[in-house]
Amino acid sequence: MVLKVIGSSSKGNGYALIAENEILILECGCPFKEIKKAIDWQILKIKGCLVSHGHQDHLKYVREYLKAGIPVYTNEETKQAVGAITGAQFYSVSEFKVIHIGGFKVIPFCVPHNGTPNFGYLIEHNEMGRLLFATDYEYIPYNFQKQHIQHFLIEANYQEQFIDKYLPNYEHKLLGHASLETCIGAIKANQSPDLRSVIMCHLGAGSSSGKYFINEMQKVTGRNVNVACAVPELVVEVNKEPF
Ligand SMILES: [Zn+2]
Ligand SMILES: [Zn+2]
Repeated sequence: MVLKVIGSSSKGNGYALIAENEILILECGCPFKEIKKAIDWQILKIKGCLVSHGHQDHLKYVREYLKAGIPVYTNEETKQAVGAITGAQFYSVSEFKVIHIGGFKVIPFCVPHNGTPNFGYLIEHNEMGRLLFATDYEYIPYNFQKQHIQHFLIEANYQEQFIDKYLPNYEHKLLGHASLETCIGAIKANQSPDLRSVIMCHLGAGSSSGKYFINEMQKVTGRNVNVACAVPELVVEVNKEPF
């Protein structure tokens, strides 16, 4: 299994979990043609697409995906905001209700995002083990340590030291987003011996460099864990076992 990044910022988010015979897309904030290209045009392998919330950088191109026949799953509020589309496989899912999308077992859970209904997803697959996806969050309200998560795809948006809370755009840009410090706290709280990779996503302008993020995170995870920052075209192996 590999995770491929198509976009990961306020300009547009899109990720593909590519298993041997099936693909799960996360978010539809990137044009569908970019997804097609990223998965080498293996469109028939796409089993579905999960959307976290209704902001444009995660949802903008949802109609393209639905029109292409991709089943899309999100929370009720986000689905309502898009409205009815005839013939589309557009599903609202509930917190903690297990859904099966091909061989992917998915559990949605709520994460606070400055009042916007927002889902994180715990995703499980035979080839991958468990991956926790959380973006645009203030904090992770649950503990998943007992779930022995192998992989995290998790927002680290900015560094607290670079933030001027008195700037007029502070609320708009950063409230509801996780700092690097918050992200590190979430990894610490949910770390287990099975941890294999941490991919930090949705990096914003209030940060020095991906390299700094990676170094800081690796102080917590140790060198045996693969730590990366999500940038377009990044491909990360996300298998259950190291061999
Ligand atoms: Zn966002
Ligand atoms: Zn958002």
